[in-house]
Amino acid sequence: MSTGNERIAIIGAGLGGAAAGALLQHAGFNVQIFEQAPSFSRLGAGIHMGPNVLKIFQRIGMDKKLVDISSTPAYWFSRDGLTGDYLSRIPLEGYGATYCTVHRGDLSALQMDTMTPGTVQFNKRLTLLEDNGSDVYLEFQDGTSARASIVIGADGINSRVRETLLGAEKPNYSGWVGHRAMISAEKLKKFDLTFEDCVKWWGPDRHMMVYYTTSRRDEYYYVTGVPHPAWEFDGAFVQSSREEMSEAFAEYHPVIQALIEATDDVTKWPLFNRNPLPLWSQGRMVLLGDACHPMKPHMAQGAAMAIEDAAMLVRCLEETGSQDYATAFRLYEASRRDRATQVQTVSNANTFLQTQEDPSWVYGYDVYAEPILDKSVA
Ligand code: FAD
Repeated sequence: MSTGNERIAIIGAGLGGAAAGALLQHAGFNVQIFEQAPSFSRLGAGIHMGPNVLKIFQRIGMDKKLVDISSTPAYWFSRDGLTGDYLSRIPLEGYGATYCTVHRGDLSALQMDTMTPGTVQFNKRLTLLEDNGSDVYLEFQDGTSARASIVIGADGINSRVRETLLGAEKPNYSGWVGHRAMISAEKLKKFDLTFEDCVKWWGPDRHMMVYYTTSRRDEYYYVTGVPHPAWEFDGAFVQSSREEMSEAFAEYHPVIQALIEATDDVTKWPLFNRNPLPLWSQGRMVLLGDACHPMKPHMAQGAAMAIEDAAMLVRCLEETGSQDYATAFRLYEASRRDRATQVQTVSNANTFLQTQEDPSWVYGYDVYAEPILDKSVA
């Protein structure tokens, strides 16, 4: 396989774009990432990285570094939010790699460190994309432009690349919001309660997922799912409050009341999704992650799907060489569509691990052990 001299441009240095960048570089491709944010910042949120992702991070020597900074829960507990009864105790070990919960910013920082300095260009908000057949012209809000042989749209749910391929269409508001808060573990010491490593508290129509985000266990994080009729605010999120949380979780278990009492700062995020897209690529442009199959975050696998996409896309480009990107994109979609759609469907239904089930189909998955599918061949 020859990687060729093609320049690959990735739009977006989120978790999916950064994974694609590092994996492409590792495989010898010439890659540049364009990110709209002015600089890297440590956003206040946590994230799960399951064994299915850690197997990918092994490729770029990032798995051990991630384990070192993460909390590594042995179980995912599901509990009744009102009574505290255990609904399931799901082992998180035995799937071929470690299960991590971590601060998103710390994870992003590790991802940035796996790439050659200068790979990511910040302050580059893509405004125009033109595939002229022989290459792609990119224009950015700061007035600069670039050319690339292939463009990977890893630019999230409001993807400009998706819009170029399929036209402008707002994502669907799911009718739910997620509250997010990072709590200092110091503030929990005064309670005579146990704060478990990874637990989802389920109510009849809402939930709260809670876990540590560092190996030192000094940060405890919660993210909720709460019905909310319409999203009437501008922007990605708005400020919420302890009072709003108390109202949303009145009558819930004492551990939840303690978490709300210990909350200094809490934000509220609308949860959006999209119906499966009719196509994942066109010409020299291809989509991955939330640009392609956004989902409600209730399986904690949205970013994992973006990173699995990145790994499979790079595998396909290695298989065909970047000059035959059309074949690579076709194999990539054939190999990823069913998996991403299945996770998207279960995630949107918000049933995952509520009862004692086997999560091997999610965590045991190894993208490198999967066949590359060619659906045009009978
Ligand atoms: P993004 O992370 O959205 O990254 C897109 C990047 O593209 C951004 O950096 C953005 O600035 C950049 N960009 C956008 N437009 C442009 C442009 N025009 N030009 C240049 N750059 C651009 N997933 C999990 O796996 N586990 C969890 O625990 C989890 N919790 C969640 C909680 C909440 C409340 C929400 C809302 C989501 C959660 N998710 C979780 C989902 C997860 O955040 C997404 O699935 C994941 O971030 C998708 O990664 P991505 O790289 O595709 O897109």
